Amino acid sequence: MRASDRIGGINGGGSDGWDVFYRAREMAEAGAQVIELTIGEHDIPTHPAILSAMHESAAAGNTGYASVPGEMALRAAVAARVADRTGVATSWRNVIVTAGGQAGLFAAHMAACDPGDRALYCDPYYATYPGTIRAAGAVPVAMATHARDAFQPRGAEISARASGARSLLVNTPNNPTGVVYDRPTLDGIAGAAREHDLWMISDEVYDTQVWEGAHLSPRALPGMAERTMVIGSMSKSHAMTGSRIGWIVAPEPMIEKLIDLATVTTYGVPGYIQDAAVFALGEGPALEAEIAAPFRRRRAIAQRVLAGQDRLRAVPSSGAMYIMLDIRATGLSGMAFANRLLDATGIAVMPGESFGTAAAGHVRVALTVADASFEAALRRIVDFALQPDAVAG
Ligand code: PMP
Repeated sequence: MRASDRIGGINGGGSDGWDVFYRAREMAEAGAQVIELTIGEHDIPTHPAILSAMHESAAAGNTGYASVPGEMALRAAVAARVADRTGVATSWRNVIVTAGGQAGLFAAHMAACDPGDRALYCDPYYATYPGTIRAAGAVPVAMATHARDAFQPRGAEISARASGARSLLVNTPNNPTGVVYDRPTLDGIAGAAREHDLWMISDEVYDTQVWEGAHLSPRALPGMAERTMVIGSMSKSHAMTGSRIGWIVAPEPMIEKLIDLATVTTYGVPGYIQDAAVFALGEGPALEAEIAAPFRRRRAIAQRVLAGQDRLRAVPSSGAMYIMLDIRATGLSGMAFANRLLDATGIAVMPGESFGTAAAGHVRVALTVADASFEAALRRIVDFALQPDAVAG
């Protein structure tokens, strides 16, 4: 029996850009010493206090079907957090709880786009974006951002490709670049969205990982709350990647439709996970800062290690748990650099090409191993980039 074209087409064919990652895993399984600076996974487990809240809730019997849109306490906590940070009036009616940010991204595209509609997203991009858009039946349209602009998207370029599109997906702080969009960038993006009547789907799952300046939500810009769906998640902010808990903040009528979708897909998120999330959010910014602190420290380490050499140039970034290195001075592609680095040193990084075409000639380094190992690994990456045999061929 044949699968539907829709599901068969999700990955779009060709390499998914994760070859280096899988090769590193295989090498590690075969007993090699491998340092993984690849995926966005914390090097700590979920905080014991959050786990206690989860356990207490489950042990007290909160193991049945949970409310499909999410428990009132969690919807209210998310609304308060968003209102606090953005100054935009937000009620629990603007919130639906989802099974992580990823389920939110899918639901938002289902809600914004009809089959065959064009859905815009910026390149470089988080790996699931095009597949998520295709799974929703829409047509992914990548808009390149440029190294010369520090990968900040330009409103005029978006406008030039926006005709007939239904949605625009943006991500700040950005994975993979670590770039935090500044106010002029967001004004440009928001202008394009208003001009072309687009839904703005704003992926803000890294909103607690801002090392300089501030996170600005496009929803807070004039005329944007009515056309913006914000994707949030506890994965990165609270080291809860495995708990699969996130949300969408959207205009109330859209939330009503998203509840219809949740009813026929996930049928809600486990109540004990939601209770743990309520507890975690109740701990406020102090806990979020504690969880973000290692990445802040390692970014400072990276700045120190990279200063005083010009072979590797860090993309000027100020957020997220990654740094992006321009490796074009080595003469290698990002893919070749990552593969050779892995073979020569056992250090795994992601080629920029894994995230589209705009970050070719770059590699993404995750700030996800202990400080001392991170520093040693980065020094080896610099040495590797300087070796003459790294540039041959
Ligand atoms: N958006 C971005 C930009 C991400 O990097 C990730 C995870 N790496 C997600 C969304 C999805 O996160 P989750 O589903 O765990 O909330």
